[in-house]
Amino acid sequence: MRIRIKELLKNPDLGKEFEISGWVRTKRGNKNIAFIALNDGSTIHNIQVVLNMADFEEEIIRKVTTGSCIKVEGVLAASPGKEQPVELHGSRLHVYGTADPDHYPLQKKGHSLEFLREIAHLRPRTNTFGAVLRIRHAMSFAIHKYFNDRGFYYLHTPIITASDCEGAGEMFRVTTLDLKNPPLLEDGSVDFGEDFFGRETSLTVSGQLEGELAALALSNIYTFGPTFRAENSNTPRHLAEFWMIEPEMAFYDIHDNMDLAEDFLGYLIRYAMEHCSDDLKFLNNMYDRDLMGRLEFTLNNKYERITYSRAVEVLIQSGEKFEYPVSWGVDLQTEHERYLVERHYRKPVMVTDYPKDIKAFYMKQNDDGKTVRGLDVLFPKIGEIIGGSQREEDYHKLRRRIQELSLPEKDLWWYLETRRFGTAPHSGFGLGFERLLLFVTGLGNIRDVIPFPRFPKNANF
Ligand code: ATP
Ligand code: MN
Repeated sequence: MRIRIKELLKNPDLGKEFEISGWVRTKRGNKNIAFIALNDGSTIHNIQVVLNMADFEEEIIRKVTTGSCIKVEGVLAASPGKEQPVELHGSRLHVYGTADPDHYPLQKKGHSLEFLREIAHLRPRTNTFGAVLRIRHAMSFAIHKYFNDRGFYYLHTPIITASDCEGAGEMFRVTTLDLKNPPLLEDGSVDFGEDFFGRETSLTVSGQLEGELAALALSNIYTFGPTFRAENSNTPRHLAEFWMIEPEMAFYDIHDNMDLAEDFLGYLIRYAMEHCSDDLKFLNNMYDRDLMGRLEFTLNNKYERITYSRAVEVLIQSGEKFEYPVSWGVDLQTEHERYLVERHYRKPVMVTDYPKDIKAFYMKQNDDGKTVRGLDVLFPKIGEIIGGSQREEDYHKLRRRIQELSLPEKDLWWYLETRRFGTAPHSGFGLGFERLLLFVTGLGNIRDVIPFPRFPKNANF
């Protein structure tokens, strides 16, 4: 029976026979002996396989090259080398798949991340992406565990939606109409009544509105699914398809919301440090010597809680020259957010009470008539990692805001009804899963923390 390399290395049972399978990272040796570094993805560590050339057909050993896939049976032994504590002395060898050295692109170590993006079908075989994918898994699992342990229900919200409430013009349209010959209305515009759903539909930018409906019945829910934004942001922090975690809680005000956000992020980062330490150590050494320090920094400091107005004051008084100048009413840019976190407060920062004009219609309106109870959580290196708010639960105020913004009230009738029937104070936030992974892995580009990134002009693989 095959054993995963991680298990084999965990409790090395010297002198016993084992069967392992995996992909060859390197092969070296001479005419008497071959050393193969084998990896099966269960851990960042390879196992060294030692083959006595005399025991095998030369032909079969020649097929073992970087990238090939093999099965080895043999005896586990202490290794005389100082690179590894144990090695497998192979007695039987099977080659599942060869990898022609003239064509296999991952011959040497140290390919650039940009190059690896072009071979996203093979990059899971590198140390870096193995680490990223294992951490991605661990974080997904931790998210479900965190909420399940606290009585939150996992809610599946629709991917295809007919409401465009957040970002007009930032949505991907979903249609089955013939683009060359669409049915037209009398005024020449496309007749979406003829489309599959009988109306205009798009890919969702957030599950929040539907999440609220469930929270106003189940009390505490969360979503964890893909979201889509057609914003043409070619930045290292934006994807066109990304995953978002959106908890929504009845009877939570903005302070409860902040407590949850801080506790949740702390839990996830601690979980990564406990369960992914080998992968984190690798990433720390390869890409970002400050990674571990930065993770600890978020655990050891209570987050600073300030209002938007205070943040603007701090930024103006800093005398710092920002690319985007700051004044009350402008949206904070990443450079501002990072200044607050890294230079001024030197801890993660939670900013609340934003001007209503730069935030979404559903945020709870403050009595000053100017600000709303929005919440952004700002992290070192990343800037905004979470966006959330207390929601407006007052039917009349919400409806007035929808009208002020000329949003399609008739499409939001179901959302408004929750405020007519048994409304309740409630709050929630959205954590961008890949922003979290950027932070936890220390990598610099969000395209490198998702298996197959979608961004402007790229939907390969
Ligand atoms: P930003 O200002 O950085 O574009 P946003 O204000 O548009 O973010 P929200 O609409 O509040 O973001 O979305 C909630 C969270 O989803 C953000 O805090 C961020 O973590 C993540 N997020 C938003 N847009 C993207 C994107 N294009 N790619 C990856 N993650 C994103
Ligand atoms: Mn955005």
